[in-house]
Amino acid sequence: MRLLCRQMGVCHRVSITAWLVVWCFLCMVLGCSSAHEDEGKKQEPILRAPAPEAPIPNGHTIPNKEPDIRIRLDRIRNRGERVIIGTDEQRLRVTDRHQESLLGAFSGPLEVYLASDGWRLKESSGRGRVTLPTEEIIVRAATQDTGDSSLLGVQTSTNQPVRKYPGLLRLVPRGDEPSGSWDLINEVPLESYLPGVLAGELYSGWHPATYDAQAIAARSYAVNEILSRLGRSHFDVESSVRSQVYLGATNNQEAIKSVERTQGQVLGYEDRLVPGYYSSCCGGHPALASEAIGPNPINELEPLNGHGPPAYCDEATVFHWTRKTNRHLIEDRLRSFGKQTANELLAKLGQLQSIDTKTVNPFGRALSMEIKDTQGRSIVISATQLRRALMRGDAVGGRASLQLLSENIRLFVDGNVVNIDGWGFGHGVGLCQFGAQAMANSGNKANAIVTFYYPGATVVSAYSTPESLTHSTDQNTEEAQAPNQAQSPSAQEP
Ligand SMILES: [Zn+2]
Repeated sequence: MRLLCRQMGVCHRVSITAWLVVWCFLCMVLGCSSAHEDEGKKQEPILRAPAPEAPIPNGHTIPNKEPDIRIRLDRIRNRGERVIIGTDEQRLRVTDRHQESLLGAFSGPLEVYLASDGWRLKESSGRGRVTLPTEEIIVRAATQDTGDSSLLGVQTSTNQPVRKYPGLLRLVPRGDEPSGSWDLINEVPLESYLPGVLAGELYSGWHPATYDAQAIAARSYAVNEILSRLGRSHFDVESSVRSQVYLGATNNQEAIKSVERTQGQVLGYEDRLVPGYYSSCCGGHPALASEAIGPNPINELEPLNGHGPPAYCDEATVFHWTRKTNRHLIEDRLRSFGKQTANELLAKLGQLQSIDTKTVNPFGRALSMEIKDTQGRSIVISATQLRRALMRGDAVGGRASLQLLSENIRLFVDGNVVNIDGWGFGHGVGLCQFGAQAMANSGNKANAIVTFYYPGATVVSAYSTPESLTHSTDQNTEEAQAPNQAQSPSAQEP
């Protein structure tokens, strides 16, 4: 999320309040949480036919060596849209997708776009230029070093900052004529990826133990994504809050040191990998992965079934929040949502009488809500659907969206006013970032923190990588604005 925030160039060092406004705006636009499930229904071509859905009975086996991860940095939507790769005078090599044939050598910065007859690559100096067939290509630094000189500068549009990335870049045409869209993917060893995640997910200055707990959770989440999408997608994670935020190379020393301290450590449960879902603040009402992330056998692993008290996050500003809004606005949005989802009863909603919590999970988190009107209609929808419906500002003449930080809400209709009580920020599964920070401040180490948030899990040293290097640079200097959430595999579309 923070990366998106930065990519949009709207916030560098903003206050929590400003950040929340942006978060909510983005949620409105992108649809956080299960809104992403709709994403997969859009008419998007896929590059390869997915393998048959193989049920994964009890989670993945923990790998014994460091995997590479493929992060989608951006989706270039229009033919002719340019991306700049490489920094001044940096030597770049362009190869086929298997790195077997050298297709060109250039001096950076290199301008790349997809034309109707193929890739156009042009040195910004105007010297070298080439046209290549519309097939996946790789761009990487020519150097054999793994230090700063191998980092690739990337600028996806003129109003975006240049960001630097370790590893290589895959440029993958999506094959959807005539738009000519393509995906920009960074492929990098997992341990080189993680510092850029921690730098994006946690405030600088947070406790080292919080960083370590977050590193273990983020690594576990990433490995699960890699294994779940193997052979089924051309990337594993997004670089945004849709998966987990990734800033590329970072100068956040705590992030770098934390990844080194926890190298190869993942969450295990009975020899299986536990996907380390996490969110900003559980609000004292944790969610179960099977409820909040999705119906996947992996999400039924015992450590993903929520954690008991205490709510260490109770001092966070997002622990409990309130909103006040107009009854007509709520009615408009519910009717609009009813039309969109072919819920005829909801589409015909009359004057709103009440919205009551119908069911809650074992921790008191709202699961379903009953909407009643004065004409006797009664409609039950999930709490997630209700949140999505109420945040549909764009559907009713662009009126400002309601800033609902989670689906864990209670509503009270009082004449023409609707009061909303809300708890937490994000999906509420697994590690609670504000809670983890409070635990760390009370002297708890990473192991105690993660075993509290993933009950029954143990920290497993999956691999060690003496040759693995993490990167430090003074280029990507932005820091996290607020903790965040790791989404489900189903949150992405290939
Ligand atoms: Zn919490």
